[in-house]
Amino acid sequence: MTVPINLAILGATGSIGQQALSLAEAFPERIKITGLAAASSVRPLAKAIIKFRPQAVSVLSATEAKKLVDILKDLGLNKSIWPEIFTGSDGVIQVATLSATQTVLSAMVGRAGLPPTWAALKAGLKVLLANKESLVLAGELIRPMVDQIVPVDSEHSAIFQALGGSLTGEGIRRLILTASGGPFLGYSKDELKGVTKEMALSHPKWSMGPKISCDSATLMNKGLEVIEAHHLFGVDFDRIEVLVHPQSVVHSMVEFVDGSILAQMGPTDMRLPLAYSLSYNSRWPILDDIGSKRSLGIQPLDLTVSPLTFAKPDREVFRGLALAEAVGRQGGTGAAIMSGANEEAVGAFLAGMIAFDKIIPVVEECLSLLSSEKVSSLDDVFLADKKARVLAKEIMEKNMVN
Ligand code: NDP
Ligand code: MG
Repeated sequence: MTVPINLAILGATGSIGQQALSLAEAFPERIKITGLAAASSVRPLAKAIIKFRPQAVSVLSATEAKKLVDILKDLGLNKSIWPEIFTGSDGVIQVATLSATQTVLSAMVGRAGLPPTWAALKAGLKVLLANKESLVLAGELIRPMVDQIVPVDSEHSAIFQALGGSLTGEGIRRLILTASGGPFLGYSKDELKGVTKEMALSHPKWSMGPKISCDSATLMNKGLEVIEAHHLFGVDFDRIEVLVHPQSVVHSMVEFVDGSILAQMGPTDMRLPLAYSLSYNSRWPILDDIGSKRSLGIQPLDLTVSPLTFAKPDREVFRGLALAEAVGRQGGTGAAIMSGANEEAVGAFLAGMIAFDKIIPVVEECLSLLSSEKVSSLDDVFLADKKARVLAKEIMEKNMVN
């Protein structure tokens, strides 16, 4: 008999969270939802409560909690099966560390994902990690607990799969992270000046939330992923390479000391790495054409459609990648400064306040004005992130006035 995984999903209403819930719906005998956390998308959260009956949920504040209660009343959900409703960042931690939970999917966006990820790790839980910012900010502190983490990010899942469902392996020479190149592959610096929010959010291969879509467009996402790979797999920056592979068929590769390269290929659908993170080392039947009654709409890959190409990224035009690589090499709080400044600048771009080609310069200026310090505790990381956000806002306001 299959024993279900007791799973809490943090970021349940987002792109990753909703895809994970579609797997939970397709495989109720394998996944039991214990807790769900979101910020303010109370209607989709209420729908998930009705479908999956978690023990506890959390939302941003008392205002959202009241809205959620009103919706649950309107929908007529019997009060005896309402979940406990928590609020705020403490509320997410409560949901992450419920006694019934064995496994936590960390899929909130940005820095907000770090405290509950940390709490889940400290509680000894298994963490399926989509929230790459947790490792970027606090990788040095998380490293001793890394064995509790299973990667969800497609590149890191590909490497994990190439290593046979492990974070380590014998004779690794290089990790090769593939990058689609984003919507502006081949653009010049001048061409990047005119790009709009709609253009930046139209990723050619993946459907994702706004922050990561924008990070993919600047290639900062790939930079964050290089740092993520360094902390996850314990491999030096000199041995982590990035190759642009616009077809997004090969999700990443491991090269070994004998010259062999193992790649993981598959459809561009995050439910593949999500399912693998839940199931490894077995494989769940999620493709549509294998006669399963539960259709997830995932088609097998047709390898005859287009040739596969690989090229070096343009680090001159997409400076975010080179910046993240340098910051990662340096260590300390630099990555927290970079991540905090980037989150603010991306937020300002998405709000229509700064141009797309100003995102990375804001991050660069913050990095040049704030010095990277040694990381001894989470407080060091949060302080660096906070200072970077304040400074990024000042820089953006000053530039808007000028
Ligand atoms: P989305 O923006 O689609 O979703 C973010 C989720 O986080 C939402 O459920 C949101 O709730 C919740 N959230 C945000 N802030 C808070 C908060 N303060 N408290 C509680 N919940 C909060 O993001 P994605 O799903 O695209 O990405 C999530 C993470 O996964 C990111 O770190 C990203 O880099 C990573 N990732 C995503 C991939 C993808 O394909 N989308 C691929 C690889 C990695 P609400 O809806 O209420 O705002
Ligand atoms: Mg990725």
